[in-house]
Amino acid sequence: TISMAVIDHMGHIAVGTSTNGATFKIPGRVGDGPIAGSSAYADTEVGACGATGDGDIMMRFLPCYQVVESMRLGMEPKLAAEDAIMRITRKYPNFVGAIFAVDKNGVHAGACHGWIFQYSVRSPVMEDVQVFTVLP
Ligand code: ASP
Repeated sequence: TISMAVIDHMGHIAVGTSTNGATFKIPGRVGDGPIAGSSAYADTEVGACGATGDGDIMMRFLPCYQVVESMRLGMEPKLAAEDAIMRITRKYPNFVGAIFAVDKNGVHAGACHGWIFQYSVRSPVMEDVQVFTVLP
């Protein structure tokens, strides 16, 4: 799964998440990719969120919608991402997945459960892509 959020020079925010790769691939399965709020959600007024992991569980919680709405209420991206993961693991302790969150100012963070998560960031003021590692 590849998830990407972008903020353009006007401040417009968009996010997209690919459908899954080999993991969970059974005939006929659609997965969480096309479910708005599950593996991707963005609102230009707030920020964006992308997710990867067990989509059959994630689509029951819409974690990306949750993250954006939490940030709308003032939660920092890090706390919003951790909160969304926690809402899942409270019910599914064996959940494996990860979330990144970015607010409209470009403040970003990640949270994960069951694996080590890496995401990369590039902005006009950066010389190159920077990789961030998030521990569970
Ligand atoms: N979320 C994807 C799915 O369940 C899998 C992944 O993120 O790797 O289809």
